[in-house]
Amino acid sequence: MTDNNKKITSFRELGLSDLTLDVLNRMGITVPTSVQQQAIPPMMRWYDVMAKAPTGTGKTLAFGIPIIEHIEKHRRALQALILSPTRELALQIGQDLSGFAVNRPWIEVAVLYGGQPIRTQIEALRRKPQIAVATPGRLIDLLRRRSLRLDEVEIAILDEADRMLDMGFIKDVRFILDKMPRVSQIALFSATFSREVMDISYLYQREPVEIRVEEIGQDKPDIKEYLLPANGAERITAIRKILSLADVKRGIVFVNMKQSADMVVKKLRHLKINAAAIHGDIRQQQRERVLSNFRKGNLRILVATDVASRGLDIENVDIVFNYDLPLENENYIHRIGRTGRAGKSGIAVTFLSPGGEDRLDTIAQMTGAQLEEITDLDTFTF
Ligand code: ADP
Ligand code: MG
Repeated sequence: MTDNNKKITSFRELGLSDLTLDVLNRMGITVPTSVQQQAIPPMMRWYDVMAKAPTGTGKTLAFGIPIIEHIEKHRRALQALILSPTRELALQIGQDLSGFAVNRPWIEVAVLYGGQPIRTQIEALRRKPQIAVATPGRLIDLLRRRSLRLDEVEIAILDEADRMLDMGFIKDVRFILDKMPRVSQIALFSATFSREVMDISYLYQREPVEIRVEEIGQDKPDIKEYLLPANGAERITAIRKILSLADVKRGIVFVNMKQSADMVVKKLRHLKINAAAIHGDIRQQQRERVLSNFRKGNLRILVATDVASRGLDIENVDIVFNYDLPLENENYIHRIGRTGRAGKSGIAVTFLSPGGEDRLDTIAQMTGAQLEEITDLDTFTF
């Protein structure tokens, strides 16, 4: 107890079961993060929760622990549903939850997402999972085929809630929420909130507990943010230079368009830099292969559209590049938040092309980002 501002709570003090304490122990997770300290108690008591907390501060376990604790052992019905905006994030959450349920072999977790054969997922549903992690499109498809029902779901989570409620998703999400007559707990999690999150909270939640973890102290992702003026082709050369300057083992380059992703990969490979792309036009199998290679350390540079900007938790990503300025302000936070996770440090380099100054000012203003300009890469050290 050195910091008198924040009391250090143990997971035991959060009133968790021995099974949960045992698995946390095995995972080497000892001290709950702020969002876990604040969200777990109300969620355990079946309160609705809306929680905004910085990237990489353990939101998955903040909802994952109460879910696992709430699953009724002898009821083979879908009891909890987690919605994710991307397939890869759904897979990751599914894996996290399965891992967290290792010492509860009766718990089944199904991951339901597009781009993979629906038959396999229908078979998984025949095993009567208690927990499903899904992307909205595939879930609705399965509902229409009557391969699953949501009428016994008691817990619904929107991870990356603001993204789940923006234009492309909100209709589907409301359709799904309206299919759960017995839902008694709805929780919304993200590092950024929006007007729509407030609206959906007002419409669907009852007396929600509001949690806002500020980006300060331990809850501030340790990311050094840089700005590098560079136009067009200069960016590839700059990436090469920075990769060696900063001794980068693993990095992500974010672009705005699928074609740019393929183009950047081609140019990096030409410089003998091990790179591969992930974006919406790539076959799902290939997307998963690329991501898995990246996680394993067999791929040095992942070039991605915003399909990879939300939620992905990949160990030891040293650096994130914004090859293009993100089109949405919040995505700046999510993109750079792929590094500097769980107390580790990271670097973010944002390229500024001529004419982009106003756009970058807006992003910095809206996100509170503070970028240090690299004026001369030749003399720069990280
Ligand atoms: P968020 O959803 O807030 O971006 P994640 O849930 O993906 O963050 O967690 C980020 C990383 O932190 C994960 O690798 C997770 O295993 C780790 N983690 C979660 N909780 C703790 C904790 N209490 N102590 C240490 N590491 C943790
Ligand atoms: Mg998350």
